[in-house]
Amino acid sequence: MNDPEQSLWQTTCAETVTAPPLTADAAVDLAVIGGGYTGCSAALTAARAGASVCLLEAQEIGFGGSGRNVGLVNAGLWLPPDDIRAHIGTEPGNRLIDLLAKAPSDVFALIDEYDIACEPVRNGTLHCAHSASGLKDLQTRHAQLSEAGAPVELLSADQAGERTGSQAFHGALFDPRAGTIQPLAYAVGLVRAASQAGARVYTHSPVQTMAYEAGHWVLMTPGGTVRARSVIQATNAYHLALPETAPAYVPVYYFQYATAPLTENLRASILPRKEGCWDTGLIMTSFRLDQAGRMIIGGMGDLGHAGRVAHSGWVRRKLAELYPQLADQPFEHGWHGRIAMTSDHIPKITQIGPNALAAHGYSGRGIGPGTVFGRMTAESLLADDPSLLPVPAVSEHRENWTRVRRAFFESGAALTHLIRARV
Ligand SMILES: Cc1cc2nc3c(=O)[nH]c(=O)nc-3n(C[C@H](O)[C@H](O)[C@H](O)COP(=O)(O)OP(=O)(O)OC[C@H]3O[C@@H](n4cnc5c(N)ncnc54)[C@H](O)[C@@H]3O)c2cc1C
Repeated sequence: MNDPEQSLWQTTCAETVTAPPLTADAAVDLAVIGGGYTGCSAALTAARAGASVCLLEAQEIGFGGSGRNVGLVNAGLWLPPDDIRAHIGTEPGNRLIDLLAKAPSDVFALIDEYDIACEPVRNGTLHCAHSASGLKDLQTRHAQLSEAGAPVELLSADQAGERTGSQAFHGALFDPRAGTIQPLAYAVGLVRAASQAGARVYTHSPVQTMAYEAGHWVLMTPGGTVRARSVIQATNAYHLALPETAPAYVPVYYFQYATAPLTENLRASILPRKEGCWDTGLIMTSFRLDQAGRMIIGGMGDLGHAGRVAHSGWVRRKLAELYPQLADQPFEHGWHGRIAMTSDHIPKITQIGPNALAAHGYSGRGIGPGTVFGRMTAESLLADDPSLLPVPAVSEHRENWTRVRRAFFESGAALTHLIRARV
């Protein structure tokens, strides 16, 4: 199997981006650190508004979660609406729920506007009940989401069977607002759009230090310095250097394996409407097809860890359990990525200094939210108006016991996968 840091998405990305490293000093209105969805969306927004903006990426565009994820463009967060309101209050909660309900429309509108070749399919998603208790969870979500105005539909076991082509589920929650994309290609398309709008984009340009001097930020990279009135730090789970502004989160690994493109015959019985799917398991499973007809199946766990054996054994068995006709399909790609999980699963905006904000902690839901948070963070800084932020900025966000919790998630996933792989 290939290097777990190399995803299928790098192989199938239709567009390439050429952005040189920074080799001279620059002065801009806004400097953006990080070239994932949050940073690219912020740079695009600022450039479209006529601001001078420079995006600095330590590696390549989409090196982080944006180039490794499942590609489910979901509406909302992991949490059902009542939990969001309970965590951040009724009014801010309702505002966030409304903003993120529209997030898939925002993403697909950008894809259309900039003709981004990222395999967009807006046929909805299926949250599949893996057990009777999973179905109860979906019933609660269905009730709360319907009350909040979401056009979700609860499917019976038979309907879930027809839609997935698998007999493994007790029912499913269909969300027609959602869809799937080739995740890396979306990030690359966004940065191309930002660049065409006038943003200066530099890759292989890690910001090593940042300091506030005489009303301006000074960001140092190995090849040059950027002076900026405002800064957005969009580094999420792949934050490098800059220890003073490091985001606090629990790192949770998630892996995926992809088959070769399936034959027409096999494809005929699987996901006929091409919804993206995940299940209600605590150690969850995701599955979807890409444009070429590969089956991509994922679960929680770190492939760079000793648990890889358990994870790879489990994924073989799980695929056969979901789709017996795919039991012998070899996997051609396997990769993983790090998710920035927060305890309450609510993304955070942190004020890291004067005119400087950081956004992070999408807890595995960053395509829509990252696009929205990047855009609104840029709008807020450019207008000097904190009320434009999607959630109020906090001066600090802390997480306790992050190493212990990471070990807990990883050993829990490895153990679950080991047991299930042997049953
Ligand atoms: C395996 C996996 C599956 C997921 N599945 C889904 C899904 O199906 N749907 C969904 O909505 N979300 C999903 N997510 C979450 C989603 O991918 C992330 O929330 C999202 O990509 C975060 O985007 P971002 O721009 O904030 O951060 P990232 O995409 O991680 O980008 C951060 C960037 O900052 C750069 N950087 C770090 N430090 C510096 C520095 N000092 N100087 C310059 N650059 C720096 C990094 O190199 C990196 O490119 C998944 C995540 C993972 C890992």
